[in-house]
Amino acid sequence: MEHLTWQVGDVHITRVEERIHGVVRDTLVPGITDEHLAEHADWVSPFFSRSGRLLLSVHTFVVRDPERTIVVDTCAGSDPPRPLAGDSAFLERLDAAIVGGIDAVDTVLCTHLHFDHVGWNTRLVGGRRIPTFSNARYLFARVELEALGDGHASVREPSVDPILEAGLADLVETDHVLTPHVRLIPTPGHTPGHVSVEIESCAERATITGDVLHSPLQVALPDLTASAFDADPAAATGTRKRFLDARADDDRLLLGTHFPPPTAGYVRGAGRTRRFVPKVER
Ligand SMILES: [Zn+2]
Repeated sequence: MEHLTWQVGDVHITRVEERIHGVVRDTLVPGITDEHLAEHADWVSPFFSRSGRLLLSVHTFVVRDPERTIVVDTCAGSDPPRPLAGDSAFLERLDAAIVGGIDAVDTVLCTHLHFDHVGWNTRLVGGRRIPTFSNARYLFARVELEALGDGHASVREPSVDPILEAGLADLVETDHVLTPHVRLIPTPGHTPGHVSVEIESCAERATITGDVLHSPLQVALPDLTASAFDADPAAATGTRKRFLDARADDDRLLLGTHFPPPTAGYVRGAGRTRRFVPKVER
């Protein structure tokens, strides 16, 4: 499988896909209508199926700068059974896509602790769940982990606790600076400790969205939100509007955490004519 790649100054970014799912719109982002799709058909068609399902991509971004090899989000995994599950062929693709393979990953970052962002934090070996990236520090936002509390066992037990028990977790603030080129920004609402990732190098910039957006259509219609999955839908919507306003007509490349190819693009325009303008792979 060919991977989409982008260069942002000295930072190299690779998208490694686990799977693209055709999701019934109302289960994820209720309120998207056929009229919305018709009105924006000239630019949103790559992101919906012919029958109008929302194409939800589950993928990892590998961010390699001169200091670090960072895996941003670890997809859904294959075990325990989860919605949006993938399979172990993903790990083989990821291993092949990284210079030095999975063992060369020194940092794992989860934008938030939902099942489709933590799945390959661990893998099952001989009945035991072990960290997939054994040479990496795993960064979790402190507020995000605290919000998880003792609940959310289906995420915590397989995908978070083994990392904590192995001593590989670093609890960080939501504005944590990873390297001179890579830092976190707080984008709460979808979850309390949700973060996006800002990348800047040689006057070039990009942002990994996390789940601030689930579909490019929300660039034009930011009031549409993943209400069934948002911890605080109003906060998520407010965050999304500020996030898009800050990036309208600027030079920052938006890398959509759930956007199918072409995945990356720019926010252009204002109001209902605002849209996501894809950047073609170099
Ligand atoms: Zn997600």
